[in-house]
Amino acid sequence: MSARGRPRKVQGENPGASEAKSLHATRKKSEQKNEEQKTTDAKANSNSKIHVKIHPSQEVCARKPSCVKTPEEQQTPKQTRSGEKKVAPRSSTQKGNSIEENPNKELKSAPEKVQKSQSVESDSQKVTRLKKSSKVAKCVEETDAPQTAKGTENPNKVLLAVLEKLKVKKNERSKSAKCVNEIQTKITEHLKRHLNWCKDISVLKTGSYYENLKICHPDEFDVMMTLCLERVKLQPFSEDGAFYSVEMKRHTKHPLDKFINDDNNIMASEMLKDFREQIKQVISSLEYDVTLERKKMGCPAVTLLVKENGKNISMDFVLSLEVHSCWPAFTQDGFNIENWLGKKVKMEERRRPFYLVPKYEGRGNAEQDGIMAKDAWRISFSHVEKKILKNHGNSKTCCEGGQKCCRKSCLKLLKYLLQRLKDEQLDEADKLCSYHAKTTLLHACAARVKDSEWADSELSHCFQQLLRDFEQNLRACKLPNFFIPSQNLLNGLNKKKCERLADYIENQRNNGFPLLC
Ligand SMILES: [Zn+2]
Repeated sequence: MSARGRPRKVQGENPGASEAKSLHATRKKSEQKNEEQKTTDAKANSNSKIHVKIHPSQEVCARKPSCVKTPEEQQTPKQTRSGEKKVAPRSSTQKGNSIEENPNKELKSAPEKVQKSQSVESDSQKVTRLKKSSKVAKCVEETDAPQTAKGTENPNKVLLAVLEKLKVKKNERSKSAKCVNEIQTKITEHLKRHLNWCKDISVLKTGSYYENLKICHPDEFDVMMTLCLERVKLQPFSEDGAFYSVEMKRHTKHPLDKFINDDNNIMASEMLKDFREQIKQVISSLEYDVTLERKKMGCPAVTLLVKENGKNISMDFVLSLEVHSCWPAFTQDGFNIENWLGKKVKMEERRRPFYLVPKYEGRGNAEQDGIMAKDAWRISFSHVEKKILKNHGNSKTCCEGGQKCCRKSCLKLLKYLLQRLKDEQLDEADKLCSYHAKTTLLHACAARVKDSEWADSELSHCFQQLLRDFEQNLRACKLPNFFIPSQNLLNGLNKKKCERLADYIENQRNNGFPLLC
């Protein structure tokens, strides 16, 4: 697949325009079919945006291509079930193009066809389609479940096949786990012995492997190494409430004293330096083929690359502070799990400590109130995420007994899709990460709370909806952190990039996910 050229072809093009073109292309095909189809298309033409009710409490404005489908589009999943590996893009079926082709390519050639088809329409035809416009409302309502329309085969089939592919083989997993555990134990012991400020350091296993959400290979492990801090004062470092400076309250001697500046703030960068240095020293004594990855700008992790049984495993050791105090005020409007997991669970979780990791963005020597950005800490709730993803049901027994849901499957698929976009070296996908996928799912779970809305049998429908959620976030250039709503996780992406990503994902969604197959 000539992946590299793909994204660049659409660069410089107005993303909105390409979307309109795809719409036109669909329309052209539709008009060849029958009069009634024209009605739908014409109405769609006059409605670039249509309100669709996707949830009783959540009315959203969706763009036409995401929510209004022609009968032909509704049959798309049926095409994917034909036994072929991939589905032809909706506007290229006439040409018999395979999905290997740039999905945006056909979008470009469409306008002439549309003009042509529009020019042959008579006045009486226009009147007819306007009269029939009431049918559109019905069409819009039905689009919430495009995959279930008309098909007789299981619309989940394609996605189930993808999930199967993603399943980590059990023995592969245990082999990696053994090696990872040994390395992690050795490093922890070494730190405890050689760094007096690490005497009480403990390991918090977070990340996708431990959440059972690993996709593809068990090759990436995050190990959060935490230090408990009792008496600290946090000052927001950024306006969005995601970054903080950490001030030690007055105390007698403390092992962290050597990292404290004149203002009593803990210098994250200095701590990280010490931490990294010790890990570097322990590597040579490990019985595995381990190398230390070069330091990355703004990355709080010390990454080890391990070669084991012909596989490359990467282990991220992240230093963190465990803070036992009330969650910061910025979390006040976030973490809306009341209707989903209940008030009690919310209260219990909010009583748990939170974590700070020495992560900074932008220039490390940028200052604010005398604090350098490199000494700022980012707040982390990964322990809470892990817990609520594990106990994710509106009912306590979800996925434990008979009733299974597809929440985790949806997350795996979205993570994989984002990974695939990155693999394709799509410029815009650079800044995407699995946390965008996780956050999108958490918001979706908080909006569609019932387990029945995530029934395992509805995988295809739920995944389509989750992608529509993400597309909307992208088009609005806004994805609030689930815990700190004032932090926009799409900050690093400009409007144009967000639009292009949304277009790309929408295209995948409408064409049977060629990128996943
Ligand atoms: Zn479940």
